[in-house]
Amino acid sequence: MAITRRELITNIGKAGVPVAVAMTVGTQTLQAEELTVPTEPLSLFYDASLCIGCKACESACNAANNTPPDISRDGLHQAPADLNVFTRNIIKLYKPADGSPSSFVKRQCMQCFDPGCVAGCPFEALYKDKDDGIVHWDGSKCIGCRYCTIACPYSVPRFQWLGFNPVITKCELCSHRLAKGLKPGCTSVCPTSAVIFGTRSELLLEAKRRIKNNPGRYYQDRVYGETENGGTQALYLSRVPFEKLGLPEIGPDSGPSSTLRWQKRIYSYFALPAVLYAGLVTVIRKNLKGYEQEAHEQEKETGLRAQL
Ligand code: SF4
Ligand code: SF4
Ligand code: SF4
Repeated sequence: MAITRRELITNIGKAGVPVAVAMTVGTQTLQAEELTVPTEPLSLFYDASLCIGCKACESACNAANNTPPDISRDGLHQAPADLNVFTRNIIKLYKPADGSPSSFVKRQCMQCFDPGCVAGCPFEALYKDKDDGIVHWDGSKCIGCRYCTIACPYSVPRFQWLGFNPVITKCELCSHRLAKGLKPGCTSVCPTSAVIFGTRSELLLEAKRRIKNNPGRYYQDRVYGETENGGTQALYLSRVPFEKLGLPEIGPDSGPSSTLRWQKRIYSYFALPAVLYAGLVTVIRKNLKGYEQEAHEQEKETGLRAQL
């Protein structure tokens, strides 16, 4: 029951039609796509000038998310070098060699208004809640391509390299705690209120109040995240330039996300190998069916001969 090349191409073509239609529809959706601002965005506000680097928020984050402490550096102390699959929240130290002011900085997901990770994911495994604006990861849709890790302008999502069913991890603002009426882990233990939780509008007001009441204390009297990268739900005040703390000067346009949304159209062409694969599976199935039938007939024949 050999299959002809004509049959092969026909089968691939048949399998390709629905996908081609889906790709066209997907493109139209992208063209019509408009960004919506969440109705009640929830936020973290971190004032680096109040942080004493105690790292209580790191441990609280581990406890809240049931992740083990990262003791990989010396086998004894929790001292992760960077965000990683067990570390969704990290305190780092900026200490310039020239003796100018140093600063701690807390890093976690910024819950961007226009998240590059969401725009970069070809399968919508990352999505932004339309009400509270928290960016979530849906493991059932993730294929482990890791585009989100490249697309995030803050290098936040981390990929689990080991394990049978790898996961992407990032701060999701402890939404499981919020659902129980609790505050995020990190904001419930900070001894100096360097990090606090609330709605974005109230935290933005608090940040501006601190700037007004403390002239000359904060870098450029600016709240990082108010407009940067199209606005983020994590807001920062600092005494030292934000860039020194790993917060890039992106500007008010969420350029990376806009670009990525268009690139997503190109990603959709990655469906092509899937189309070819689907066609080949159809061909193989057809062949197998033929062989099974032949084998069955042969068996029947052999059996019949044995009975004779
Ligand atoms: S900081 Fe990165 S991971 Fe977090 S929402 Fe923005 S793009 Fe996504
Ligand atoms: S909100 Fe939760 S997950 Fe995010 S940094 Fe704070 S403790 Fe960690
Ligand atoms: S718990 Fe507060 S003071 Fe301590 S490291 Fe975290 S943000 Fe800074």
